[in-house]
Amino acid sequence: MIYTKHNLDDTIVALATPPGVGAIGVIRLSGKDAITIADSIFHGKKLEKQKTHTAHFGTIRDKAPQPPKGELRHRSPPLGAGGLYVIDEVLATVFVAPRSYTRENVVEFSCHGSPYILQKVIELCLENGARMAQAGEFTLRAFLNGQLDLSQAEAVADLIASSSAASHDLAMQQMRGGFSEKIKILRGQLVNFASLIELELDFGEEDVEFANRHELNTLIFDIQRLIKQLLDSFALGNVLKNGVSTVLAGRPNAGKSTLLNALLDEERAIVSDIAGTTRDTIEEILNIKGVEFRLIDTAGIREATDTIEAMGVQKTMEKVQSSTILVYLFDVIETKIMDVLTDLQKLQRPNLKLIVACNKMDKNPYFDPQWLTDFNNPTIPEYYLGTINPEADYPELDKKQIITLSAKHSMNVPYLKEKLYDLVADGKIQTDNVIVSNARHFEALQKSHQSLDDVLRGLSTGVTTDFVAMDIRRSLHHLGEITGEISTDDLLETIFSKFCIGK
Ligand code: GDP
Repeated sequence: MIYTKHNLDDTIVALATPPGVGAIGVIRLSGKDAITIADSIFHGKKLEKQKTHTAHFGTIRDKAPQPPKGELRHRSPPLGAGGLYVIDEVLATVFVAPRSYTRENVVEFSCHGSPYILQKVIELCLENGARMAQAGEFTLRAFLNGQLDLSQAEAVADLIASSSAASHDLAMQQMRGGFSEKIKILRGQLVNFASLIELELDFGEEDVEFANRHELNTLIFDIQRLIKQLLDSFALGNVLKNGVSTVLAGRPNAGKSTLLNALLDEERAIVSDIAGTTRDTIEEILNIKGVEFRLIDTAGIREATDTIEAMGVQKTMEKVQSSTILVYLFDVIETKIMDVLTDLQKLQRPNLKLIVACNKMDKNPYFDPQWLTDFNNPTIPEYYLGTINPEADYPELDKKQIITLSAKHSMNVPYLKEKLYDLVADGKIQTDNVIVSNARHFEALQKSHQSLDDVLRGLSTGVTTDFVAMDIRRSLHHLGEITGEISTDDLLETIFSKFCIGK
């Protein structure tokens, strides 16, 4: 595979820490001349002579800067030996190829984190023969030099972006190669068969059969089953990586803002007695056992009377459309069951995970959540039944979806958290399970699965060997795209341009 856009002979340099002021800023040099270039600006021990994985204290020096035209220098610059201007006192860490992240020579300067110093040190590296690294170029080199495969390189970006225990674990597992290993095994099995089939093609007319068709069938079923497991894990992987979008909805005064505060354990949203005060949406992150829930508090879904609130209502509907979980809240004293069911019907959509929270239980301890599921029960008070027709097709609520709450007194709020977690995780989060969390991998797996369908169809209809071989190759191609055995400039460009400079 040739990646033409970047020259691997260059030595690249970039700031590896975030831009801006910090206690320390790290500048990273990588390439065959990294150590030579570092030596030309570093004053201390000769880095060229040092062992790999060693750190050395010294100074970075330059010619004294000239004062701007017409200005006199007020103080003489801090001169070091050789009459050179001391830019900073630094620690240089040396990594000798191939024992580095990029498998090239690498020097990292840990400087004082002043943007002036960092800029100056980078300029000196450039003047001495390095070039600015492009976004993700260090990791690209690690990939091109065989240190990481493509899915591991992508996991590096995920790891940097991870903000919860779950997304961290997921990225870490992928970076350490768990997922790649699984894909490689699948590929290996298919490659064996592909080569037997292609051998048959070489014999052309002679009608030989090296690859046992029955075994091939079984193998493909097995591989498809494994791919299917990986595909199925994507829903969870996506949730763990990006958080779960969770909407809190209900009529004005149902207690949404109070619940949000109770969940977050602090005063965030504005709570008010006046109906319809939470006009816009508020989004907060709630971390439950390492999984991030993005909680969206919405304006009431009651028919709005003024335009500002109407916009809020519109927003609620939009938010519900794009969310994974809906927590629908209602006031057990004020709201009629019929109205609850009408709201739920409006908000329902396929695949939406729903929790119905009966709030303000402290005000009505006699309320029975059973009433929500059991329309025919004669003991339900008239008031709650309203004009409900039990035969009508209101969404049939699963009892497990209903919980009672008092948001104000935090009653059952911990239980609600458990429920939220169970809705997405449900015992499926185990660190040794391989979970797909990258949309590109998901797509490649889907295509690979489809190509295997074509192989199976070909085998059952008895198409010629060259077609079967072609479909197997196609499936292999898609699996290879995941780990980067098959990659194009465009693909690499898309993946690595999303990295930050210096990574
Ligand atoms: P929102 O409009 O849905 O956001 O409702 P708020 O959270 O602003 O609550 C409206 C009113 O109901 C406030 O006065 C809250 O204190 C009160 N409230 C919320 N939850 C409860 C509860 O569980 N019990 C009682 N008694 N009052 C509550």
